[in-house]
Amino acid sequence: MEYEIYFTASGTEADNWALRGIANAHKHKGHHIITSKIEHHAILNTCRYLEQQGYQVTYLDVDASGIIKLDQLRKAIQPDTILISIMYANNEIGTIQPIKEIGQIAHQHNILFHTDAVQAFGQIPIDTNECHIDLLSASAHKLYGPKGVGMLYIRDGVKISPFIHGGAQENHLRAGTENVPGIVGFGKAVELAHEKMPENILKVTALRNYTIQHILAEIPDAKLNGHTTKRLPNNINITIPFIDAQSLIIMLNEKGICTSSGSACSSTMLTPSHVLSAIGLQQDIANSSLRLTLGTKNTKAEINKFVVTLKEILSILIKRPQ
Ligand code: PLP
Repeated sequence: MEYEIYFTASGTEADNWALRGIANAHKHKGHHIITSKIEHHAILNTCRYLEQQGYQVTYLDVDASGIIKLDQLRKAIQPDTILISIMYANNEIGTIQPIKEIGQIAHQHNILFHTDAVQAFGQIPIDTNECHIDLLSASAHKLYGPKGVGMLYIRDGVKISPFIHGGAQENHLRAGTENVPGIVGFGKAVELAHEKMPENILKVTALRNYTIQHILAEIPDAKLNGHTTKRLPNNINITIPFIDAQSLIIMLNEKGICTSSGSACSSTMLTPSHVLSAIGLQQDIANSSLRLTLGTKNTKAEINKFVVTLKEILSILIKRPQ
């Protein structure tokens, strides 16, 4: 289609636009939106804003592995529901949602379906037609593209209000001179990700499974968060009880290993992760959780070194009163 990809300055902007643009363009039909409790703050805080503007938002629960409950989704639908926005895959625990089923439910009820695919886009195959996706957010820097460029896919024919008013750029919907170098870089990153996707999925998934098995075998108290198979190839999230994740991250960093305690994009926040709380982890357990994101260039040797380093640090942390 001629106009289905609209470039933005970030995934956050794409999420804001999807929600606010649909809410405004469809307010004659209704004011109800359905999302989940484990969305990125780009969605959750936009929903809070819309609530202040008079919209009603239902936040669906997830099960212990982070998957929404389809029955709860069906029950949440009201005659005035205008949008369902559920992320493709979670940024903290990597859980992949049943997107095709969610899309079918939305389609059957004539409700628009948006998915925040920032973590999934470029990592796993996505079929917007098969999954009845009407809007999809993505961000270049998640697939080795430049920072500062994102996109919103808007299915041809979907009515949406402009996000930035001004000139005629992006089909009059997102004004402002385009970030051409960023867009070119994004295009190249998508091309490479697409070309290498089958190979990368196999390689990174095998390394992820190896890492998980190795950690669980070497650190008997460790527990995997999220789903064992419905999970992004590059994501690992583990809990090591009684360990302060912040101290662990700093000590790993000193050894040249970059990890995160929750969402990498909000790693300056020290509040317990809303995602780990939603899957039922108590605050102290959530604060003992570590997130690893693997890249296509990581190797088994690096993982072996990581596990040795992790064990060394844990032996220091366990001895030390926290
Ligand atoms: N949505 C999800 C699921 C994310 O993981 C992120 C960032 O990591 C965003 C949205 C925000 O994207 P951006 O950093 O491009 O604003």
